[in-house]
Amino acid sequence: MRAQIGSKVIESAERMQGLPAQFFAKLVAKANAQAAKGRDVINLGQGNPDQPTPPHIVAKLQEAAANPLYHRYPPFSGYPFLKEAVAKRYLEDYGVDVDPAAEVAILFGGKTGLIEISQCLLNPGDYCLVPDPGYPDYWSGVSLAGGRMSFMPLLRHNGFLPDYKAIDPAIAEQAKLMFINYPNNPTGAVASSEFYERTVEFAKEHGIVVASDFAYGGIGYGGQRPVSFLQTPGAKEVGLEFYTLSKSYNMAGWRVGFAIGNPQIIAMINLIQDHYYCSLFGGIQEAAAEALNGPQDCVRELNELYERRREALFQALDEIGWKAARPGGSFFCWLPVPEGYTSEQFADLVLAEADVVVAPGAGFGTHGEGYVRLGLLTSEARLQEAVRRIGKLGLFTAPLVRDMLSGTEHTT
Ligand code: PLP
Repeated sequence: MRAQIGSKVIESAERMQGLPAQFFAKLVAKANAQAAKGRDVINLGQGNPDQPTPPHIVAKLQEAAANPLYHRYPPFSGYPFLKEAVAKRYLEDYGVDVDPAAEVAILFGGKTGLIEISQCLLNPGDYCLVPDPGYPDYWSGVSLAGGRMSFMPLLRHNGFLPDYKAIDPAIAEQAKLMFINYPNNPTGAVASSEFYERTVEFAKEHGIVVASDFAYGGIGYGGQRPVSFLQTPGAKEVGLEFYTLSKSYNMAGWRVGFAIGNPQIIAMINLIQDHYYCSLFGGIQEAAAEALNGPQDCVRELNELYERRREALFQALDEIGWKAARPGGSFFCWLPVPEGYTSEQFADLVLAEADVVVAPGAGFGTHGEGYVRLGLLTSEARLQEAVRRIGKLGLFTAPLVRDMLSGTEHTT
């Protein structure tokens, strides 16, 4: 990027030039172009929650907006009442004891913290371990810090968990930071306590800070609450967890999240934020505290809604013969593309021929190739309609036809 200033052309700084290309901006442009032709596009490609924020949280902001205290600068690093609400929620939900003053940092959404952590810890050339496929903002943070990424492949046969034994010990020794993310975007995989125990062990052995991105911590299926990294003995010594209100409370537009964990690293995040901002609008902090302290039925109901959608989608997938495993958490489904297509070719095809937007797995990293990501962020009827349209392309073999072709009797 450059700007013409008088007779001079000013090039953007090198750190800007190193930012990864926004793969999904291309996806949005293609979807918009299709919709501009007057087509009824079903967009399952993005991760923007479709439900409104629960009314008691909205009402708290409306009331708080009139409080003159909040019209002044908020305290650096946020109001203590919000940090206390964070600590209370973690104690109630996960049995994790948190010192609100020293172990919580308030964030402008999880995204901001995930970018700041690289800036806090990485010098140019330092290694960071990053999941592949993974949330592309990890790359942005590492790139802005001038760090180097070493990718940890997330493979189906490992339950989409990194295999620490496969990491080159020389790289592990040089790494200062690693990202993990369960429930996972994009695969929908969840992590067990045993995995987190292995993570703490690996981090201690090599001296690596663990950044656990728990953005989808509020979304688990079959009545299973996803496990928090901080529930693992020793986790707070080696890292921190990033949580956001965007998903659990449908507050993506409000931009509020938090980091919890190792107090020395929390102090670094607070310090960098003191230079960038002086915390969020007080009314938003009060509404966020209301979300965390108030009734949690809204989170349960949201889980039930996503579960109904997941079942509707997978029933429809089964009917067209698109075989895939259900996600254990998050609102994403990770589906293999039919043979003969790259993820981008398949995404282009279903957009052009079925007016359905899916996110090509290659956008999440090399090991995302071969998959597409679908979000459960529209009604059951629209999800089923999207699959029905894709089924009409004849790329999959419906179970009944498949059984007839193979001579097997169809009994259900
Ligand atoms: N982490 C993951 C894996 C995400 O998918 C997202 C949002 O899509 C975030 C973090 C950040 O969410 P927010 O910035 O809204 O808190």
